[in-house]
Amino acid sequence: MTSKATIWRATVLTLFPEMFPGPLGVSLAGKALAAGLWALEARDIRDSATDRHRSVDDTPAGGGPGMVLRADVLADAIDAADAATDRPRDRPRLLMSPRGQPLTQAKAVELAAGPGPLIVCGRFEGVDQRVIDARRLEEVSIGDYVLSGGEIAAMALIDACVRLLPGVMGKLASGADESFSDGLLEYPHYTRPQEFEGQPIPEILLSGDHARVAAWRKAAAEALTRARRPDLLIASTRGQKPPKNTTEG
Ligand code: SAH
Repeated sequence: MTSKATIWRATVLTLFPEMFPGPLGVSLAGKALAAGLWALEARDIRDSATDRHRSVDDTPAGGGPGMVLRADVLADAIDAADAATDRPRDRPRLLMSPRGQPLTQAKAVELAAGPGPLIVCGRFEGVDQRVIDARRLEEVSIGDYVLSGGEIAAMALIDACVRLLPGVMGKLASGADESFSDGLLEYPHYTRPQEFEGQPIPEILLSGDHARVAAWRKAAAEALTRARRPDLLIASTRGQKPPKNTTEG
């Protein structure tokens, strides 16, 4: 039995808690959420506002467009989330941010293996730098483009983690064949009908010969990765020992 305290839990700090669970409430993640395999807590940053207008942002020091999330309000929201939880104090504290380290499958695996992160969603122009430093927020990006807020990015990160949790994907739980897990993109999939608009399923896949199927899939994954993401091949060979017959000098 998994006890309540050890269930993987994402705590999200946001100005729009009503966006959650959103897409995380359906399909695999949603069923697992309903089954208590993981937990989601969305907390309203605005609850930490102190003034009459419940303001959370202000104009940027030094001028420029837009508004910035206040350090004091956000720090209070983080501290309140920590005070209200039975989570370990050293759970990862993330800030969704286009300036952050890119989210990778390896990062999702690492986060899924822990207690679950606290995730701050920025809005407007972003967050006062002092709270990032003072609360040691680790900035994580979901790609080189700018969203209007961190919520969709947080959902992407949570989804990538949740599908790795034990029991969530059933038999597929290891995800060992999937894109990125071995440094390669995944091979192409086929299912019925056997012929679609004149195109048959590659014959090997119907042969029942598991070794040949595995070899075909590996070759297909390598070809696809070479064509689309050669950077992944370079990354996966980096750090590997050179082959024995390599002559030096
Ligand atoms: N002015 C900022 C962008 C702010 S976008 C800049 O140029 O870096 C508003 C918020 O959306 C950010 O604080 C962040 O929480 C979220 N966000 C935007 N793009 C993102 C991305 N690619 N990855 C993760 N979060 C992102």
